Amino acid sequence: MVDFDLIIVGAGTGGTTAARFAAQKGLEVCLIDSKPREKIGDKICGDAVGTEAFELLKINPPKAGVDLSCHIKGAKLYSPNLQKCIELIDPKQAGYVVDRLKFGQRLLNEALDSGVKQFLDKTRALDLIYKEGIVTGLKVKAKNGEQAELKSKIVIDASGFYSPLRKKVKNPMIEKEIPKIDSILCYREIINFPKKDQEVQDPEYITIILDPEKAPGGYIWYFPKNESSINLGLGVYMDYKGKVREFYKKYAFNEFVKTPNIEIESSGGGVVPVRRPLWSCADNGLMLIGDAGCHVNPLHGGGIDPSMRAGFYAAITAADAIESGNHTLEKLWDFNYKVMTTFGAEFAALDLLRMVLQVLTNEDLNFGLEKDLLTAGEILEIASTGSITLSLFEMAKKAIQGLSNPKLLLDLNYLRIRMNEIAKHYRKFPRTIHDFAEWKNTTVQIYDKIQNMIVKVKKNEKENIKGSEAHG
Ligand SMILES: Cc1cc2nc3c(=O)[nH]c(=O)nc-3n(C[C@H](O)[C@H](O)[C@H](O)COP(=O)(O)OP(=O)(O)OC[C@H]3O[C@@H](n4cnc5c(N)ncnc54)[C@H](O)[C@@H]3O)c2cc1C
Repeated sequence: MVDFDLIIVGAGTGGTTAARFAAQKGLEVCLIDSKPREKIGDKICGDAVGTEAFELLKINPPKAGVDLSCHIKGAKLYSPNLQKCIELIDPKQAGYVVDRLKFGQRLLNEALDSGVKQFLDKTRALDLIYKEGIVTGLKVKAKNGEQAELKSKIVIDASGFYSPLRKKVKNPMIEKEIPKIDSILCYREIINFPKKDQEVQDPEYITIILDPEKAPGGYIWYFPKNESSINLGLGVYMDYKGKVREFYKKYAFNEFVKTPNIEIESSGGGVVPVRRPLWSCADNGLMLIGDAGCHVNPLHGGGIDPSMRAGFYAAITAADAIESGNHTLEKLWDFNYKVMTTFGAEFAALDLLRMVLQVLTNEDLNFGLEKDLLTAGEILEIASTGSITLSLFEMAKKAIQGLSNPKLLLDLNYLRIRMNEIAKHYRKFPRTIHDFAEWKNTTVQIYDKIQNMIVKVKKNEKENIKGSEAHG
């Protein structure tokens, strides 16, 4: 039995950030991870991260010669038929492609240098210890293979998508399982090739191709790493579990790799949650951050930035709670408030957009993007704020452009209204747990409206198919 103020489970981007700020606040922090120390940061990932979290948290950005692979000016978003390319360039979309292992090692070392009391690698969290309804520590399998107990005032779960602890939480407000429909299964490779054999396409941009036929539910990505290396991947619905590699080979690898002279530096699959945060990311004595709390941008699956932000919010909430001597959910509710009123509001709106985008067909996407029903400016506004404001003039312009597909235009407009509504609603997240039930009811109602719209879109699609078959 060892006593700490705070135990953090998982030394990923979320856990190391929480550890850094909690230690800086003077807490006695124990950080544990099931991996050996030298493997911390080694994660199957697209490796792209924006500048925002570093600026906001005053953490040094990735640096050449340390953990930076390359700088990114923006993103290029392609329609399924590749006829339309939307360039998304703004400071918020700019950023970095990192060397994931070196980036993770740097974040770990900086956390340890901030004064983390103990770092236990090869230590697996097995279960939460509850005492009188409050989490007071963990059961772990220690490095030597034996089971042990670690005691603390607060536990932060940063153990990622498959969090074993989320399943053990007693409070029903915290969802134990993430529905399959809210997760995306990815496969990616880091591929090196001689410069003379193949040039890296658009080396200053990350390239994203929307194509519901080749990447159902997700997208194909092509991210540069340096002048002779790329991170190439594809994400699909979880139901395509047995097929993701095949889809990757066929629609990503065969499309983009033009030389046999390649070296595959790393390959593998992974799952990312793509939905709004959990209803509550806190319980008595416990907070969940990063993938464990569904703190991932639902539109593109970027989770490095929000995991770091959540790590910061959890650390300051923990410090405040420990100072007050109150570690109950009522006190830790402030963490929910911080998450939901900031990136949580944005993610709830983007979650609605994601749900609708996932049911649009290649034809709809080709049409919508080519006719500018959604422009680069609007996509950027949505991506950074979770909502868009359109003037009457812009609405009228769209109505004319979308005239030949009025249904899609109406659906997009309805979606825009609901996105604004939910972002506003999240920004009014209750300060205390007592008003949560009412807030949740309204949230569910907004989601239901979009679900109903999706049912109608799917029904129309079926009828269209039937109609064209009858004509055929
Ligand atoms: C294929 C793919 C591509 C992606 N591309 C991008 C991208 O380009 N940009 C981006 O921003 N995001 C991307 N993401 C998402 C991003 O990787 C995650 O959202 C982010 O890493 C979440 O960080 P985290 O700290 O919550 O969890 P993780 O980084 O997953 O860290 C969890 C840590 O917990 C440890 N752990 C797990 N279980 C236990 C246990 N029982 N006991 C102790 N330790 C444990 C693990 O070893 C790990 O070190 C991608 C994800 C995938 C799968």
